[in-house]
Amino acid sequence: MWSGQAAALDFPPHSVLRGLRPDARNIVAKHRILIVEDERDIAGLIKHTLERHTDSEAEVVGTGDAALKSMTERPPNLVILDLNLPVVSGLEICRIVKTRSDLRHVPVIMLTARTSEDDRVTGLELGADDYITKPFSLRELTARVRVALRRTVHIDDRPAAGSYRDAHIVADFDAVAVSVDGESVRLTRREFELLQFLVQNKNRVISRDRLLERVWGYDRSIETRSVDVHVGRLRTKLRVAGRQIETVVGLGYRFVEEQIAQAQKS
Ligand code: CA
Repeated sequence: MWSGQAAALDFPPHSVLRGLRPDARNIVAKHRILIVEDERDIAGLIKHTLERHTDSEAEVVGTGDAALKSMTERPPNLVILDLNLPVVSGLEICRIVKTRSDLRHVPVIMLTARTSEDDRVTGLELGADDYITKPFSLRELTARVRVALRRTVHIDDRPAAGSYRDAHIVADFDAVAVSVDGESVRLTRREFELLQFLVQNKNRVISRDRLLERVWGYDRSIETRSVDVHVGRLRTKLRVAGRQIETVVGLGYRFVEEQIAQAQKS
């Protein structure tokens, strides 16, 4: 018994890694990101930034065909997908990825031109997880990538209730309590449910129709506009944290984590 314990102390798990070369140790934990972008300068900049600021290694491909080949051989942890690609469009790639059972779970962040709102809507409907409009800030890109990678780790970790906490807001959904900067906030039941649904889907765009359906049920007497009114009141009550509920023009609303809200300001 004693000898067994002594042996365990002599060989804690991390000592197994000591024998590995330092670079081999790093590779073990790295995320794999596939960047699909035909503009080489942009692709190179994204790769450099992500490898430097996130725990990942990135591969760059310039066409949809190459992207599908790479993903089939070795599914990545995340895809950064430019929608404007030659031959096979980014939207088509997104559609294929989100209908294939072996790739469906891989988060896709779309890169789109600021003017191509229709493409963004289509992409999100196809199942893309997030989007960034060009020209974009590398800080924002990094923040969104971090969030998407974290989500892959906790893919089923979305409980019906639970709690949420960031720089300003603390929400305890079990206790029905919300505070901002330590001061408790009084919300109506609807406002609370609205906040809960947005937070549970944080960093994702939720359409007004979806909010109506999830927060109000199928009550036909409620109009889409009343969602806007409730969101407006909720924002005001949340004071500084209110800006984390973004209006996504033409699409709906998105609750962004404080770190992303900060990155967007810079
Ligand atoms: Ca392009």
